Amino acid sequence: MWQAQVRIDLDAIRHNVATLRGLLRSGTALMSVVKADAYGHGLLPVATAAVRAGATWLGTATLEEALALREHGITTRILSWLHSPGRPLHEAVAAGVDLSAASPAALAEIARAARQTRRPAAVHLKIDTGMSRNGATRADWPALLTAAAKAQADGDVEIAAVWSHFACADEPGHPSILRQQLAFDDALDEAARLGVEPPLRHLANSAATLTLPESHFDLVRAGLATYGLSPIPGAAPDLRPAMSVHAKVALVKAVQAGEGVSYGHTYKVLKDTTLALVPVGYADGVPRSASSRGLVEIGGKVRRVVGRVCMDQIVVDCDGDDVRPGDEAVLFGAGSRGEPTADDWAAAADTISYEIVARMGSNRTPKVYV
Ligand code: PLP
Repeated sequence: MWQAQVRIDLDAIRHNVATLRGLLRSGTALMSVVKADAYGHGLLPVATAAVRAGATWLGTATLEEALALREHGITTRILSWLHSPGRPLHEAVAAGVDLSAASPAALAEIARAARQTRRPAAVHLKIDTGMSRNGATRADWPALLTAAAKAQADGDVEIAAVWSHFACADEPGHPSILRQQLAFDDALDEAARLGVEPPLRHLANSAATLTLPESHFDLVRAGLATYGLSPIPGAAPDLRPAMSVHAKVALVKAVQAGEGVSYGHTYKVLKDTTLALVPVGYADGVPRSASSRGLVEIGGKVRRVVGRVCMDQIVVDCDGDDVRPGDEAVLFGAGSRGEPTADDWAAAADTISYEIVARMGSNRTPKVYV
């Protein structure tokens, strides 16, 4: 008998991938971003479902994630984009994983790995168009592009793409969106001037995939939307959230007005009530910052977490209702039955749904695929 479960609806993943594909014109491919254990949903099951539903690229941050996909027989094209110096890039080249480079030094490392492997490496040149995170800044574009043209001429690398990432695509109308789009056009012009004209250009994340068709180019990289969540409230009515979190009530007790609840007694019971103990806590990924704010559905009613979230458990106010040990508590789900959603938990924890699902899905609670 299970105690707590993270349920992943793979039909929902397939539906979301098909829905996203439907937004793209025929020349644009879909990359399903499966980094961070597929945002907590499980790398291999999600990657398999996404490919089956028509994703022709998979995206990972780390090398390990990309290699795990290959080790499990996934032959779809993969881009892995986050590497510190000294990583075993030859393993990625040997496995046919595309790599990203943001500097001549990173490119040189990839070229070395390619020579070691005796196989050209497919490289995506990462351009910083204004996020000031990964990517070559404008002043460094010429050095990166010149090094790329040379490495390609030497036969060590094939430049597969020029790419960049939006900082604020989830805030429609944000002035940085247009600035980044214009900067990306400049980078492509500069690349062409320096003899770098790769087959692919990619810029869009989920938010841009949903709202900025002019940013789709040859490939879009959709993470959050694959999991049925929208980075922009209301922008994606056709998506189905794939993750739900369930736990069986462990204990129910009556308490009197004035009693303090959980560590630090940060919450005091306002009137006589019943409390349900739900056996998931911050070690399972329940955010402690949602103490006294998170919502849980038990017995068809949405109820509130009271007091601090503990390592293994939370306390839920059941308002004197007839809740019993063994009853199912739903922390969040698709919301279609009135249960709280990952967005509700994000609001309660002052964070984003990305963090809610990534943490809940990558901790102690077993994942079950339905
Ligand atoms: N591309 C890159 C480089 C990313 O880091 C991410 C995620 O953060 C994505 C695409 C996918 O973003 P989203 O989940 O908003 O679609």
